[in-house]
Amino acid sequence: MIVMKFGGTSVGTPRMLERVADIVESNLNRKPLVVLSAMSGVTDMLIKGTRFAEKGQRSEYERVHGDIARKHHDTIRALLGGSEELSGEIDRFLDALLNIWHSIEVLGEVTPRALDAISSFGEKMLVRIFSAYLNKRGTKAKFFDADTFIVTTGNFGNATPIYDESKREFERVVAPALSEGFTPIITGFIGKTKDGITTTLGRGGSDLTATFLGNLLDAEEVWIWTDVDGVMSADPRIVENARSLERISYVEVAELSYYGAKVMHPRSLLPVMEKGIPVRILNTFNPSFPGTLITREAREEKDVIKSITYIKNLALLNVTGRGMLGVPGIAARVFKTVWQKGANILMISQSSSEQNICFVVKKDEAQNLVDSLKAEFELEIIHRDIEGIERIDDVAIISVVGAGMRGTPGIAGKIFTITGTNGVNVIAIAQGSSEYNISFVVDGNEVERAVKALHRNLVEGA
Ligand code: ADP
Ligand code: ASP
Ligand code: MG
Repeated sequence: MIVMKFGGTSVGTPRMLERVADIVESNLNRKPLVVLSAMSGVTDMLIKGTRFAEKGQRSEYERVHGDIARKHHDTIRALLGGSEELSGEIDRFLDALLNIWHSIEVLGEVTPRALDAISSFGEKMLVRIFSAYLNKRGTKAKFFDADTFIVTTGNFGNATPIYDESKREFERVVAPALSEGFTPIITGFIGKTKDGITTTLGRGGSDLTATFLGNLLDAEEVWIWTDVDGVMSADPRIVENARSLERISYVEVAELSYYGAKVMHPRSLLPVMEKGIPVRILNTFNPSFPGTLITREAREEKDVIKSITYIKNLALLNVTGRGMLGVPGIAARVFKTVWQKGANILMISQSSSEQNICFVVKKDEAQNLVDSLKAEFELEIIHRDIEGIERIDDVAIISVVGAGMRGTPGIAGKIFTITGTNGVNVIAIAQGSSEYNISFVVDGNEVERAVKALHRNLVEGA
């Protein structure tokens, strides 16, 4: 058995859904479990509409609602010649959506729990359409909403699936259809709490649904179908000559996705890593291309550096002061404050002089953190032990990833020679990060130039 997941652009139009059906049908002998994302742009529209409703902008959310409705009804018409039963079922979701948005408009606010329920509609509508379409083509398929059997933690917006309970629920809900010879078409991205409330696994979470199910069922392989030729040596949207990697390890992909490569959800590698299940990244637009195989071993290729990635819209916070020298506990208090605010630190670096601690967070979390840190260190600031909390907005982290960097001397030297000769100012460098990557901070305006220069010299020129 294999798990096949198709991302948003792979299921974005009726034409694409035809291709997806071809791919599924040509692999029926492998007993696929199919995981689908929402049609491209739909999750974004659901969230955008909710924000309009919250602000009372009725005509705006009604317009978004119309766009979502049209997209799905057009698809039903194109694939199924307008099935009344299916249209009625989709209309029930669309009506519910409009009712929820009206209520949110009245209340003027939305809870994380409601946002998850709304965000799940895109996947739920599509599995119904696609499963009906497969049946029309003569393939026995049955759709499943993952919030009937994937049990998760209760942190809405970023929930984590739980193995034992989901396994039991899978046996109860999905397994009977498998033994009756149906191909299950499952919503990616969503789950339920123990009490049955819908959760989501974070943006891009369908990858995690696929790898989690792969683990649960001891799948032979997990195939992630997307819109590029595999894991690439850089984001093909900004580096023209980015090339597809034949093989790469779980750990390397995890590092890449943690540092911004959207090709897989950052937490989606854990379930397959645990059982050593191979993952293939394949291109729905180019299905005969072999794509990238992701496995445990970081095969030492001739290329020490495999890929270059980046995250934009970050801020660097710098706590400085001579009084920090040798005073224990400052770092602990800094990080406790950040933790209490629920912010996520993407990178830390401390200068060897111990006179500053600097770390990188998302830009929209920065001001709140500066205020909290000023409150936490009020006394130290009055006594001038801490000079202040400096904030640099609009920075980006660039990460150069490759397992072969371990034990290969001189890589950092090469990287910073390239940034230097290209006039890119390096603001901070991560200390003691894993030997699979070297990460550093640059000005947000320089990131694309830097990534291109690094790719040209380290990958294309290698
Ligand atoms: P899907 O909808 O299939 O889940 P995503 O948009 O989430 O697709 O992820 C695929 C996109 O990730 C690609 O279109 C590409 O622009 C982007 N990407 C960024 N870095 C990389 C990389 N190193 N390799 C492949 N794709 C990357
Ligand atoms: N549809 C969800 C999103 O856009 C999940 C996914 O695409 O993986 O984030
Ligand atoms: Mg994705």
